[in-house]
Amino acid sequence: MSKFLKEGYARLVPYVPGEQPKDRAYVKLNTNENPYPPCPAAQSVLDDEAKLLRLYSDPESSELVRAIADLYGVSEQNVLVTNGSDESLAFLFCAFFDQKRAVAFPDITYGFYPIFADYAGASYEEIPLREDFTIDVEAMLRSKKHLVFANPNAPTGLKIELSDVRRLAQSDPDRLVVVDEAYVDFGADSAVPLIKEYDNLIVVQTFSKSRSLAGARLGMTFAPKALLDDLKTVKYSFNPYNVNRLTEKLGKAAIEDVAYFTDCVNKVKKTRTEAKVRLESLGFFVLPSYSNFLFARHERIGGKDLYLALKDRGVLVRHFDKARIADFVRVTVGTDEQMDILYAALQDILEKTTR
Ligand SMILES: *Cc1c(COP(=O)(O)O)cnc(C)c1O
Repeated sequence: MSKFLKEGYARLVPYVPGEQPKDRAYVKLNTNENPYPPCPAAQSVLDDEAKLLRLYSDPESSELVRAIADLYGVSEQNVLVTNGSDESLAFLFCAFFDQKRAVAFPDITYGFYPIFADYAGASYEEIPLREDFTIDVEAMLRSKKHLVFANPNAPTGLKIELSDVRRLAQSDPDRLVVVDEAYVDFGADSAVPLIKEYDNLIVVQTFSKSRSLAGARLGMTFAPKALLDDLKTVKYSFNPYNVNRLTEKLGKAAIEDVAYFTDCVNKVKKTRTEAKVRLESLGFFVLPSYSNFLFARHERIGGKDLYLALKDRGVLVRHFDKARIADFVRVTVGTDEQMDILYAALQDILEKTTR
């Protein structure tokens, strides 16, 4: 750290992304990417758009925003696209939360929320998940703070019902309710239609998971116009061209190819269902999943040891060093072939483990 770093930033503990080791070829099931390629039109987008890269992108990403608005049945005024949904989350934490305007989120959730809060200089409260790892809606209702939560939640994969999102949004018009729907396409009901009813509701989605575009960095945020305008104030004060030309076109192609999207999501869901059964037959306790990953633990081996043993065998999963979930690993749903490699590795590990 240099002597020039500002005080508030010196205290930041930055987010640690899932590892990308280069020492060998791994079956990569650690960052919830989609195992299937982007929609077929993506290739021609790259070919056609490459020569236009000398020009700045459209700061409003109008064509993409129109395609999103059409598909989701909202007005273009209610859609903002960003450089990944992480950027939108950063914008909104900075725009709406500070020391006085505190925010609350579950104690076990996307690890970036407390970091965004620190970055924004906001105080925050962590609301414990219930014993069964579900989000404690009643405790969130009792909290007077602004709310951010993922639905389905990560890394548990569990969801809450839309009626509960509604209750949270209704509970107090003076607090914001931010729903991070990174995994919604894999099994929860989206709150996007509710932005027409509640002027304190923001819904954030990403192209990284269900639309196979993690590397393109694209997120979409749905909110009533006044809130969206506030986010645009931050965006235009920071990076007006936050979505590059290629990504805008790739996103539009992905939005328009509904059949391919549906097919990929269904394949992931089918593999997920089979994987839960398979893991249970190997003796794992597996939480129900409404996402594209499974959260599982085994009595005979701790989460950290299991993660290391799998890595030894060329399979990457994610482990979180956090008291309540230290026994678990989070496994992204891959292709059937990738999952077969995972099962074989697990079988081998468990045969050699007696605890
Ligand atoms: C993956 C993920 C994100 C970030 O997605 P990007 O669009 O790739 O930035 C946000 N929230 C949750 C809960 C996620 O799992």
